[in-house]
Amino acid sequence: MTEPTIHQMEPDSAVYKTLLESTKAIPWKIDWASMKFAYIGPQIEALLGWTPESWVTAEDWAMRIHAEEREAVVNFCISQSKAGVDHEADYRALTRDGEHIWIRDVVHVVRNADGSPNALIGFMFDITERKKTEARLIELQKELEVLSYRDGLTNVANRRMFDSALEVEWANAVNNRTPLSLIMLDIDYFKQFNDHYGHIRGDECLKQVALLLEKSATRTRDFFARYGGEEFVLILPEADARAALQVAQRCRKLVQDEAIPHAKSQVADVVTISVGVSTMVPSSQDHRIAFMEQVDRRLYRAKQLGRNCIAVDE
Ligand code: GH3
Ligand code: MG
Ligand code: MG
Repeated sequence: MTEPTIHQMEPDSAVYKTLLESTKAIPWKIDWASMKFAYIGPQIEALLGWTPESWVTAEDWAMRIHAEEREAVVNFCISQSKAGVDHEADYRALTRDGEHIWIRDVVHVVRNADGSPNALIGFMFDITERKKTEARLIELQKELEVLSYRDGLTNVANRRMFDSALEVEWANAVNNRTPLSLIMLDIDYFKQFNDHYGHIRGDECLKQVALLLEKSATRTRDFFARYGGEEFVLILPEADARAALQVAQRCRKLVQDEAIPHAKSQVADVVTISVGVSTMVPSSQDHRIAFMEQVDRRLYRAKQLGRNCIAVDE
């Protein structure tokens, strides 16, 4: 027994035809032996602009597939059909206006008694909207990736990015036995700044300081990030203690010279920072968390020493 085809749907064929031609999916049938269209739903004209009569051979179908995927799609459909396997393919179909519309073609292989293909019947679906949504999602994903490594307020790298950068530079320093310097910078009496000038001005101050300090990362692999709150961090690969101290001094001076008024600071009348610096040539026995803690202790020491100053390794 052969499966019913569109031709053979005799008594109810008018009903089937009406149903087929009133759906959004566009039905079609290709005769395998002649490779000619036996049928294509009239909806095709509304979608692509090509009249049903213009779909004569499988070649017409192939030539209306975007050149970029034509060969792959045609080869895939032929091989699946020969193997008698139902399949589906997404491709861009050419419209009469020279535009392209994303189509999903879902194909059923009608087989002869010996298993060879007799005909292909299928439905074409307009998936342009779906493809647009997919493309937008991919874009959003990329944007999110970028955003997730940037601090929302200052737009400099964030803590997460810092963690990744430090991991890389730490491994480099261990492998090449080169010094690695880390600088932690913290705004002095920033709580008082916020209390006195308000959070909006506080945010502006943070942005201004972040921009300034970012400039102090002068060598290509120097890395600057907002560590959190009013704390920033600099990674200086292949920088010894002396070089790191110079960078720290420049940072401290840059911020002071920016002369952002700070009426409530107990150390100056402008915004200042305290800085902790540490340098090491790490070995595989060392841990970068311990290194971070060491820099943090230097920063704490700078605060104890009176702020607006730098503390280095003893
Ligand atoms: P110290 O000199 O010891 O560093 O004192 P401090 O006041 O700077 O330090 P503390 O840790 O007590 O306060 C930090 C303040 O930073 C608290 C908080 O109000 C402010 N802060 C943290 N993040 C933000 C932010 O994103 N925006 C604003 N406006 N303020 C922030
Ligand atoms: Mg502070
Ligand atoms: Mg702090």
